[in-house]
Amino acid sequence: MRSTFTLGRIGGVKVGINWTVLVIAGLITLSLAGGILPATVEGRSEVEYLVGGIIGALGLLVSILAHELGHALMGRRHGLKVDSITLWLFGGLAQLEGELPSARVEAKVAGIGPAISLFVGVVGIGAAFLIGTTTLTGALVGWLGLVNLVLAIFNLLPGAPLDGGRLLHAFIWGRTGDRHRATRSASNAGRFIGFGLIGIGLLEFLLGSVVGGMWTATIGWVLVTAASAEARHSATESGLDGLTVHQLMEPMTSVPDWLVVEEFVLRYVVPSRQTVFLLTGFDGRPSGYVTLKDLSKVGQDDRLIQPVRRYARSLADVPVVSPTEPAKGIVSARQAVVSPVLALVVEGGDPVGIITRRGVSAAIERARLMEDIRRNRG
Ligand SMILES: [Zn+2]
Repeated sequence: MRSTFTLGRIGGVKVGINWTVLVIAGLITLSLAGGILPATVEGRSEVEYLVGGIIGALGLLVSILAHELGHALMGRRHGLKVDSITLWLFGGLAQLEGELPSARVEAKVAGIGPAISLFVGVVGIGAAFLIGTTTLTGALVGWLGLVNLVLAIFNLLPGAPLDGGRLLHAFIWGRTGDRHRATRSASNAGRFIGFGLIGIGLLEFLLGSVVGGMWTATIGWVLVTAASAEARHSATESGLDGLTVHQLMEPMTSVPDWLVVEEFVLRYVVPSRQTVFLLTGFDGRPSGYVTLKDLSKVGQDDRLIQPVRRYARSLADVPVVSPTEPAKGIVSARQAVVSPVLALVVEGGDPVGIITRRGVSAAIERARLMEDIRRNRG
């Protein structure tokens, strides 16, 4: 989730807003000004209700920000890199990078967010009773407290990627010492909760609450998607445990990029079983790569006159790794990239191979088979 615009920095953390948050802020303002406030406090002008609605929406955004800042600052205190906080359609997202050192730290980082929401909730509701809920201020503060309470409870649902899921993860990790098992359990729980929400949403929908039902179901769907991605990611990570880049890479030498496509195909593609070809320029340096698919799209006429480098893809964004590096981390860091080549393997200045998604899953399968055979032989 990218920010559409940046608000600034708080405590050194970049705070951004995705445009979708404006939709939510608008809807909240409308529901406060058009329903909740007039129903609670009677006899005010429409302008007053509208201003109240806007203040309420802003207050909610600020309290979501406080929740996320809690995660971010706690994370940074324990050595995690905090990139930014983005507010979006479904609340906030604190982008933390780096490995969590321990289950205890994970629990602290995850727990602080709901703790802040809970605190704001209790203080808000308490203040509302002191001020009196029949005043506009009292009604607003009370509403804000209530919403924060709901936010805290929702976030504590024990499934990834919710904070409660992180707490569950920390608990299992702490108890068993097995991180991957903890991730499997937390993401399964996340999917379960997500499907549950989709079910509840459908029920709401059928009972006549169209918008509310769709909203609940959408949140459920977001949860299912995120939890599944985490499960996949963890499966890859655990499969890569102990493997080196060398075991993942598809070895290859680079081939000249100045040949016309047809000659290139006859000379290199047909005799080979590769699906990706590394290219070298006149200067002997890697100039890019081309895939079998790219080549098959070249038209008949072009095939006879165009050099293969015309269809080359750039290596500029492809990370360079060495064969002896651990394989872990290569895939995780590049998951978002949809390029066919995950990394270029270079040894002593020369490219010696590439890492593809296919190569990664094949290496994981091989490692699993080896493990299985070893176990069976005792
Ligand atoms: Zn949170």
